[in-house]
Amino acid sequence: MNDVIIIGGSFAGLAAALQLGRARRKVTVLDTGLPRNRFAGHSHGLLGHDHKPPLDILAEARQQLARYPTIRLVNGRADSISGAIDDFTVLTADGESLGARRLILSYGVVDQMPDVPGFAESWGTSIVPCPYCDGFEVAGQHWGLVWSGPQSHNQVRLFHDWTDRLTVLADGREIAPDIRADLARRGIPVVDGRIAEIAHHGEQNAIARLDTGSQVSVDILFAHPRNKPSASLHESLGLATVDTPLGIVLKVDERRETSMPGIYAAGDLTNPLLPSVTTASWQGAMAGIFAQQSMLG
Ligand SMILES: Cc1cc2nc3c(=O)[nH]c(=O)nc-3n(C[C@H](O)[C@H](O)[C@H](O)COP(=O)(O)OP(=O)(O)OC[C@H]3O[C@@H](n4cnc5c(N)ncnc54)[C@H](O)[C@@H]3O)c2cc1C
Repeated sequence: MNDVIIIGGSFAGLAAALQLGRARRKVTVLDTGLPRNRFAGHSHGLLGHDHKPPLDILAEARQQLARYPTIRLVNGRADSISGAIDDFTVLTADGESLGARRLILSYGVVDQMPDVPGFAESWGTSIVPCPYCDGFEVAGQHWGLVWSGPQSHNQVRLFHDWTDRLTVLADGREIAPDIRADLARRGIPVVDGRIAEIAHHGEQNAIARLDTGSQVSVDILFAHPRNKPSASLHESLGLATVDTPLGIVLKVDERRETSMPGIYAAGDLTNPLLPSVTTASWQGAMAGIFAQQSMLG
Protein backbone atom coordinates (compact mmCIF):
# COMPACT_ATOMS: atom_id res chain seq x y z
CA MET A 1 0.00 0.00 0.00
CA ASN A 2 1.31 3.45 -0.95
CA ASP A 3 1.03 6.34 1.44
CA VAL A 4 0.23 8.58 -1.53
CA ILE A 5 -0.48 8.14 -5.22
CA ILE A 6 0.14 11.26 -7.27
CA ILE A 7 -1.73 11.49 -10.57
CA GLY A 8 0.17 13.79 -12.92
CA GLY A 9 3.95 13.90 -12.53
CA SER A 10 4.89 17.27 -13.91
CA PHE A 11 5.82 20.42 -11.95
CA ALA A 12 3.10 20.11 -9.29
CA GLY A 13 3.19 16.34 -8.98
CA LEU A 14 6.97 15.99 -8.81
CA ALA A 15 7.21 18.80 -6.24
CA ALA A 16 4.68 16.90 -4.09
CA ALA A 17 6.67 13.68 -4.53
CA LEU A 18 9.89 15.40 -3.48
CA GLN A 19 8.46 16.50 -0.12
CA LEU A 20 6.88 13.10 0.49
CA GLY A 21 10.04 11.22 -0.50
CA ARG A 22 12.10 13.35 1.86
CA ALA A 23 9.61 12.49 4.60
CA ARG A 24 10.28 8.82 3.71
CA ARG A 25 6.69 8.22 2.65
CA LYS A 26 5.92 5.57 0.04
CA VAL A 27 4.75 7.32 -3.13
CA THR A 28 3.80 6.30 -6.66
CA VAL A 29 3.66 9.00 -9.34
CA LEU A 30 1.68 8.24 -12.50
CA ASP A 31 2.38 10.45 -15.48
CA THR A 32 1.54 10.50 -19.19
CA GLY A 33 4.31 12.98 -20.11
CA LEU A 34 2.25 15.82 -21.60
CA PRO A 35 2.95 18.98 -19.54
CA ARG A 36 0.97 22.04 -20.60
CA ASN A 37 4.04 24.04 -21.66
CA ARG A 38 5.54 21.30 -23.84
CA PHE A 39 4.92 23.51 -26.91
CA ALA A 40 7.27 26.22 -25.62
CA GLY A 41 10.96 26.18 -26.51
CA HIS A 42 11.94 27.68 -23.16
CA SER A 43 10.35 28.08 -19.75
CA HIS A 44 10.81 31.40 -17.98
CA GLY A 45 10.50 32.66 -14.44
CA LEU A 46 11.38 29.59 -12.37
CA LEU A 47 14.21 30.53 -10.06
CA GLY A 48 17.36 28.61 -10.91
CA HIS A 49 15.89 27.24 -14.15
CA ASP A 50 15.14 30.37 -16.14
CA HIS A 51 15.26 30.01 -19.95
CA LYS A 52 15.56 26.23 -19.96
CA PRO A 53 13.44 23.90 -22.14
CA PRO A 54 10.55 22.76 -19.94
CA LEU A 55 11.14 19.08 -20.65
CA ASP A 56 14.78 19.47 -19.52
CA ILE A 57 13.64 20.91 -16.18
CA LEU A 58 11.30 17.96 -15.67
CA ALA A 59 13.96 15.42 -16.71
CA GLU A 60 16.39 16.93 -14.19
CA ALA A 61 13.72 16.80 -11.48
CA ARG A 62 13.04 13.13 -12.22
CA GLN A 63 16.76 12.37 -11.97
CA GLN A 64 16.92 14.07 -8.59
CA LEU A 65 13.89 12.12 -7.34
CA ALA A 66 15.70 8.86 -8.17
CA ARG A 67 17.75 9.43 -4.96
CA TYR A 68 14.70 8.70 -2.85
CA PRO A 69 14.07 4.97 -2.42
CA THR A 70 10.38 5.35 -1.48
CA ILE A 71 9.40 7.18 -4.70
CA ARG A 72 8.27 5.18 -7.73
CA LEU A 73 7.84 7.07 -11.01
CA VAL A 74 5.58 5.31 -13.50
CA ASN A 75 4.94 6.30 -17.11
CA GLY A 76 1.26 5.52 -17.23
CA ARG A 77 -2.25 6.87 -17.11
CA ALA A 78 -4.60 6.70 -14.15
CA ASP A 79 -7.94 5.55 -15.51
CA SER A 80 -10.13 5.34 -12.42
CA ILE A 81 -10.23 6.04 -8.71
CA SER A 82 -12.38 4.33 -6.10
CA GLY A 83 -12.47 3.98 -2.32
CA ALA A 84 -12.18 6.48 0.49
CA ILE A 85 -9.61 8.03 2.80
CA ASP A 86 -7.00 5.48 3.98
CA ASP A 87 -8.10 3.01 1.30
CA PHE A 88 -8.09 4.41 -2.23
CA THR A 89 -7.61 2.27 -5.33
CA VAL A 90 -6.26 3.64 -8.60
CA LEU A 91 -6.50 1.59 -11.78
CA THR A 92 -4.02 2.38 -14.53
CA ALA A 93 -4.48 2.05 -18.27
CA ASP A 94 -1.99 -0.84 -18.12
CA GLY A 95 -4.33 -2.74 -15.81
CA GLU A 96 -2.30 -2.20 -12.63
CA SER A 97 -4.30 -1.75 -9.41
CA LEU A 98 -2.60 0.48 -6.84
CA GLY A 99 -3.67 1.23 -3.28
CA ALA A 100 -2.99 4.38 -1.26
CA ARG A 101 -4.05 6.18 1.89
CA ARG A 102 -4.05 9.58 0.18
CA LEU A 103 -4.23 10.88 -3.40
CA ILE A 104 -2.85 14.03 -4.96
CA LEU A 105 -4.45 15.12 -8.24
CA SER A 106 -2.04 17.17 -10.34
CA TYR A 107 -3.03 16.20 -13.86
CA GLY A 108 -3.20 19.76 -15.15
CA VAL A 109 -5.37 21.20 -17.88
CA VAL A 110 -5.48 21.09 -21.68
CA ASP A 111 -5.79 24.31 -23.66
CA GLN A 112 -8.59 23.90 -26.18
CA MET A 113 -7.38 25.20 -29.51
CA PRO A 114 -9.97 27.12 -31.53
CA ASP A 115 -10.92 25.69 -34.88
CA VAL A 116 -8.75 28.21 -36.73
CA PRO A 117 -6.15 26.92 -39.20
CA GLY A 118 -2.64 27.76 -38.05
CA PHE A 119 -3.62 28.53 -34.43
CA ALA A 120 -2.61 25.21 -32.85
CA GLU A 121 0.57 25.12 -34.93
CA SER A 122 1.55 28.55 -33.57
CA TRP A 123 0.72 27.81 -29.92
CA GLY A 124 3.79 28.26 -27.73
CA THR A 125 5.81 30.08 -30.42
CA SER A 126 4.02 33.03 -32.04
CA ILE A 127 0.81 32.65 -30.00
CA VAL A 128 1.35 32.53 -26.25
CA PRO A 129 -0.79 33.04 -23.13
CA CYS A 130 1.35 34.78 -20.53
CA PRO A 131 3.51 37.93 -20.55
CA TYR A 132 5.47 36.80 -17.48
CA CYS A 133 6.43 33.65 -19.40
CA ASP A 134 7.27 35.16 -22.77
CA GLY A 135 7.01 38.97 -22.61
CA PHE A 136 10.62 39.90 -21.86
CA GLU A 137 11.94 38.39 -25.10
CA VAL A 138 9.52 40.52 -27.19
CA ALA A 139 9.41 43.67 -25.06
CA GLY A 140 8.92 46.85 -27.08
CA GLN A 141 7.68 44.94 -30.12
CA HIS A 142 4.21 44.96 -31.67
CA TRP A 143 1.89 42.71 -29.63
CA GLY A 144 -1.60 41.52 -30.47
CA LEU A 145 -4.22 40.49 -27.92
CA VAL A 146 -7.10 38.20 -28.87
CA TRP A 147 -10.04 39.48 -26.84
CA SER A 148 -11.60 36.71 -24.77
CA GLY A 149 -14.00 38.73 -22.59
CA PRO A 150 -14.05 41.59 -20.08
CA GLN A 151 -11.06 40.03 -18.29
CA SER A 152 -8.93 40.91 -21.33
CA HIS A 153 -9.13 44.55 -20.25
CA ASN A 154 -6.77 43.74 -17.35
CA GLN A 155 -4.31 42.28 -19.83
CA VAL A 156 -4.21 45.58 -21.69
CA ARG A 157 -3.15 47.40 -18.54
CA LEU A 158 -0.67 44.65 -17.68
CA PHE A 159 0.96 44.55 -21.10
CA HIS A 160 1.89 48.21 -20.88
CA ASP A 161 4.89 47.23 -18.70
CA TRP A 162 6.35 45.39 -21.70
CA THR A 163 5.23 47.36 -24.75
CA ASP A 164 3.30 50.40 -25.87
CA ARG A 165 2.58 48.84 -29.28
CA LEU A 166 -0.54 46.75 -28.81
CA THR A 167 -3.41 45.90 -31.15
CA VAL A 168 -6.59 44.29 -29.87
CA LEU A 169 -8.30 41.70 -32.08
CA ALA A 170 -11.97 41.54 -31.09
CA ASP A 171 -12.32 38.10 -32.73
CA GLY A 172 -16.08 38.48 -32.98
CA ARG A 173 -16.56 39.30 -29.30
CA GLU A 174 -18.51 42.21 -27.93
CA ILE A 175 -16.34 44.92 -26.40
CA ALA A 176 -18.38 47.31 -24.26
CA PRO A 177 -18.41 50.99 -25.34
CA ASP A 178 -16.73 52.19 -22.12
CA ILE A 179 -13.91 49.68 -22.64
CA ARG A 180 -13.56 50.73 -26.29
CA ALA A 181 -13.33 54.33 -25.09
CA ASP A 182 -10.59 53.39 -22.62
CA LEU A 183 -8.66 51.54 -25.34
CA ALA A 184 -8.95 54.59 -27.61
CA ARG A 185 -7.70 56.82 -24.78
CA ARG A 186 -4.68 54.54 -24.45
CA GLY A 187 -4.05 54.71 -28.22
CA ILE A 188 -4.74 50.99 -28.69
CA PRO A 189 -6.40 50.10 -32.00
CA VAL A 190 -9.22 47.55 -32.01
CA VAL A 191 -9.65 45.43 -35.12
CA ASP A 192 -13.11 43.90 -35.51
CA GLY A 193 -13.88 40.63 -37.26
CA ARG A 194 -13.29 36.98 -36.48
CA ILE A 195 -9.89 35.38 -36.90
CA ALA A 196 -10.24 32.97 -39.83
CA GLU A 197 -6.64 31.83 -40.11
CA ILE A 198 -3.20 32.37 -38.65
CA ALA A 199 -1.40 32.69 -41.94
CA HIS A 200 2.17 32.72 -40.84
CA HIS A 201 3.37 30.76 -37.90
CA GLY A 202 6.91 30.63 -36.74
CA GLU A 203 9.05 32.26 -34.10
CA GLN A 204 7.66 35.63 -33.08
CA ASN A 205 5.51 36.63 -36.00
CA ALA A 206 1.83 36.06 -36.47
CA ILE A 207 -0.41 37.23 -39.29
CA ALA A 208 -4.08 36.91 -38.38
CA ARG A 209 -6.39 36.80 -41.42
CA LEU A 210 -9.87 37.99 -40.52
CA ASP A 211 -13.23 37.03 -41.95
CA THR A 212 -13.65 40.68 -42.97
CA GLY A 213 -10.89 40.22 -45.55
CA SER A 214 -8.32 42.32 -43.69
CA GLN A 215 -5.30 41.00 -41.84
CA VAL A 216 -3.24 42.01 -38.80
CA SER A 217 0.47 41.34 -38.54
CA VAL A 218 2.09 41.37 -35.11
CA ASP A 219 5.37 40.17 -33.64
CA ILE A 220 3.56 38.09 -31.04
CA LEU A 221 -0.06 37.27 -30.35
CA PHE A 222 -1.41 36.73 -26.83
CA ALA A 223 -4.48 34.53 -26.51
CA HIS A 224 -6.37 32.77 -23.74
CA PRO A 225 -8.34 29.85 -25.14
CA ARG A 226 -10.60 28.00 -22.73
CA ASN A 227 -9.08 25.00 -21.05
CA LYS A 228 -10.37 21.84 -19.45
CA PRO A 229 -8.92 19.37 -16.96
CA SER A 230 -6.65 16.80 -18.63
CA ALA A 231 -8.63 13.93 -17.13
CA SER A 232 -12.13 13.42 -15.79
CA LEU A 233 -11.25 11.50 -12.62
CA HIS A 234 -12.58 14.35 -10.45
CA GLU A 235 -15.93 14.10 -12.24
CA SER A 236 -16.39 10.45 -11.47
CA LEU A 237 -15.68 11.25 -7.81
CA GLY A 238 -18.06 14.23 -7.84
CA LEU A 239 -15.38 16.62 -6.53
CA ALA A 240 -16.44 20.24 -6.14
CA THR A 241 -15.23 22.59 -8.87
CA VAL A 242 -15.15 26.33 -9.45
CA ASP A 243 -16.20 27.88 -12.77
CA THR A 244 -13.86 30.55 -14.12
CA PRO A 245 -13.94 32.57 -17.38
CA LEU A 246 -11.35 30.19 -18.87
CA GLY A 247 -12.58 26.85 -17.56
CA ILE A 248 -13.28 24.89 -14.42
CA VAL A 249 -10.76 24.20 -11.67
CA LEU A 250 -10.95 21.93 -8.63
CA LYS A 251 -11.99 23.54 -5.38
CA VAL A 252 -9.43 23.09 -2.58
CA ASP A 253 -9.23 24.38 0.97
CA GLU A 254 -6.26 26.12 2.59
CA ARG A 255 -4.59 22.71 3.10
CA ARG A 256 -5.10 21.88 -0.58
CA GLU A 257 -7.67 19.21 0.23
CA THR A 258 -10.52 18.79 -2.27
CA SER A 259 -14.16 18.31 -1.27
CA MET A 260 -13.39 14.59 -0.67
CA PRO A 261 -11.36 13.80 2.47
CA GLY A 262 -7.93 12.39 1.68
CA ILE A 263 -7.77 13.74 -1.88
CA TYR A 264 -5.50 16.74 -2.39
CA ALA A 265 -4.94 18.76 -5.58
CA ALA A 266 -2.33 21.16 -6.92
CA GLY A 267 -1.10 22.97 -10.00
CA ASP A 268 -3.06 24.30 -12.97
CA LEU A 269 -5.91 21.92 -12.15
CA THR A 270 -6.65 24.18 -9.18
CA ASN A 271 -5.27 27.49 -10.37
CA PRO A 272 -7.25 29.80 -12.66
CA LEU A 273 -5.11 32.89 -12.08
CA LEU A 274 -1.63 33.21 -13.48
CA PRO A 275 -0.83 29.53 -13.80
CA SER A 276 2.92 29.02 -13.78
CA VAL A 277 5.61 26.49 -13.11
CA THR A 278 6.53 28.34 -9.90
CA THR A 279 2.94 28.30 -8.61
CA ALA A 280 2.43 24.66 -9.59
CA SER A 281 5.67 23.65 -7.84
CA TRP A 282 4.76 25.57 -4.68
CA GLN A 283 1.22 24.17 -4.60
CA GLY A 284 2.52 20.66 -5.26
CA ALA A 285 5.04 20.93 -2.43
CA MET A 286 2.29 22.12 -0.06
CA ALA A 287 -0.10 19.34 -1.15
CA GLY A 288 2.64 16.80 -0.43
CA ILE A 289 3.34 18.29 3.00
CA PHE A 290 -0.35 18.55 3.97
CA ALA A 291 -1.03 14.99 2.78
CA GLN A 292 1.92 13.73 4.83
CA GLN A 293 0.87 15.67 7.93
CA SER A 294 -2.66 14.26 7.66
CA MET A 295 -1.22 10.76 8.17
CA LEU A 296 0.74 11.42 11.37
CA GLY A 297 -0.03 9.00 14.20
C1 LIG B 1 2.52 27.82 -24.29
C2 LIG B 1 2.75 27.87 -22.81
C3 LIG B 1 3.94 28.40 -22.31
C4 LIG B 1 4.15 28.47 -20.94
N1 LIG B 1 5.32 29.00 -20.49
C5 LIG B 1 5.54 29.09 -19.16
C6 LIG B 1 6.75 29.69 -18.68
O1 LIG B 1 7.61 30.15 -19.45
N2 LIG B 1 6.91 29.77 -17.33
C7 LIG B 1 5.96 29.30 -16.46
O2 LIG B 1 6.17 29.41 -15.24
N3 LIG B 1 4.82 28.73 -16.90
C8 LIG B 1 4.59 28.60 -18.22
N4 LIG B 1 3.42 28.04 -18.67
C9 LIG B 1 2.46 27.51 -17.68
C10 LIG B 1 2.90 26.09 -17.24
O3 LIG B 1 2.97 25.26 -18.37
C11 LIG B 1 1.91 25.49 -16.25
O4 LIG B 1 1.59 26.43 -15.24
C12 LIG B 1 2.51 24.22 -15.62
O5 LIG B 1 2.87 23.29 -16.62
C13 LIG B 1 1.51 23.60 -14.64
O6 LIG B 1 2.08 22.46 -14.07
P1 LIG B 1 1.15 21.26 -13.57
O7 LIG B 1 2.09 20.27 -12.95
O8 LIG B 1 0.02 21.77 -12.79
O9 LIG B 1 0.50 20.66 -14.90
P2 LIG B 1 1.18 20.11 -16.23
O10 LIG B 1 2.56 20.62 -16.37
O11 LIG B 1 0.24 20.39 -17.34
O12 LIG B 1 1.28 18.54 -15.98
C14 LIG B 1 0.18 17.69 -15.85
C15 LIG B 1 0.73 16.27 -16.05
O13 LIG B 1 -0.29 15.31 -15.77
C16 LIG B 1 -0.23 14.29 -16.76
N5 LIG B 1 -1.54 13.61 -16.81
C17 LIG B 1 -2.70 14.06 -17.32
N6 LIG B 1 -3.69 13.16 -17.16
C18 LIG B 1 -3.13 12.10 -16.51
C19 LIG B 1 -3.62 10.84 -16.05
N7 LIG B 1 -4.90 10.49 -16.19
N8 LIG B 1 -2.75 9.98 -15.46
C20 LIG B 1 -1.45 10.31 -15.29
N9 LIG B 1 -0.93 11.50 -15.71
C21 LIG B 1 -1.76 12.38 -16.30
C22 LIG B 1 0.14 15.04 -18.04
O14 LIG B 1 0.69 14.18 -19.02
C23 LIG B 1 1.18 16.03 -17.50
O15 LIG B 1 2.49 15.49 -17.50
C24 LIG B 1 3.16 27.98 -20.04
C25 LIG B 1 1.98 27.43 -20.53
C26 LIG B 1 1.77 27.39 -21.90
C27 LIG B 1 0.48 26.80 -22.42
